[in-house]
Amino acid sequence: MSDFFPRSSTLHESEEPATNAVAERPARAPLAARASRRDPSRPEPILGARRLAKTYRKNKHVVPVLRGVDFEVATGQFAAIVGQSGSGKSTLLHLLATLDAPDEGRVEFDGRRIDNLPAAERDWIRNQQFGMIFQFYHLLPELTAIENVLAPLMISEGVFRYWRNRRQHTARAAELMDQVGLSHRLRHKPREMSGGEMQRAAIARALITQPRVLLADEPTGNLDSQTGEEIMSILRDLNKSQELTIVMVTHDNAIAQQADVIVRLKEGRVERCDAEDLRTSSTHVA
Ligand code: ADP
Ligand code: MG
Repeated sequence: MSDFFPRSSTLHESEEPATNAVAERPARAPLAARASRRDPSRPEPILGARRLAKTYRKNKHVVPVLRGVDFEVATGQFAAIVGQSGSGKSTLLHLLATLDAPDEGRVEFDGRRIDNLPAAERDWIRNQQFGMIFQFYHLLPELTAIENVLAPLMISEGVFRYWRNRRQHTARAAELMDQVGLSHRLRHKPREMSGGEMQRAAIARALITQPRVLLADEPTGNLDSQTGEEIMSILRDLNKSQELTIVMVTHDNAIAQQADVIVRLKEGRVERCDAEDLRTSSTHVA
């Protein structure tokens, strides 16, 4: 890991909270000075964004979506990003995952800037270090549940290595599916599964490469509230028992309240809020 990704960036040494005070931000202290002032009791940031800006342009329409977003999640934290529909939650998550590039600013992972890496390195990080789940699951319809879970390994290892390791891989996929309560659906195709079951399969797929961060875009958005709670219970358990870092986007306050850290996207910037703010929030988040 360290050979592949030399630790050269600033995120680990940061002692600044995620704020919007971009304009007022003082010049950053040199790396060594900041490292010596680091509070050892504070968890290390693992993934973050600095002053991210993103504008979409379509024909004559210019849509500024992010206008200087600062965000970070520490190792083992469960972070929720809330905001109204169209506020840029998915855009931010896609930028964090390097699925899209910012116009300005930077994304840092494990102490290194990643948004400007060559495509092959970004692909490697996404495949090995990030797990992703989506509102509509994005399972491959022709594959069974367990084949979907195995797909990231087939992609990363290639045919020959995958074939050599297939027994261990299959055992691990089955174990993960058991962990998410899906051991009775190993050979089912997505069309034979319920929404909750498809999301469980998507979680197992996201975990097969033992990622360091799980990025979730409205993971309960297509589920009834009880099934959504079951998915949240799996995510909370992964976060607590395996210290999996999670960044979850949701428009649902009740879901977001279960995270350790909550930020709200509004007018292209983020503000910190807590569970109490969400409970008493007069603005309906939809
Ligand atoms: P959210 O996830 O909070 O609902 P999104 O990040 O999906 O919001 O979108 C934010 C805004 O950016 C919306 O107004 C949306 O229409 C616009 N947008 C998102 N993706 C694109 C795109 N690829 N091209 C043009 N506009 C886009
Ligand atoms: Mg969205």
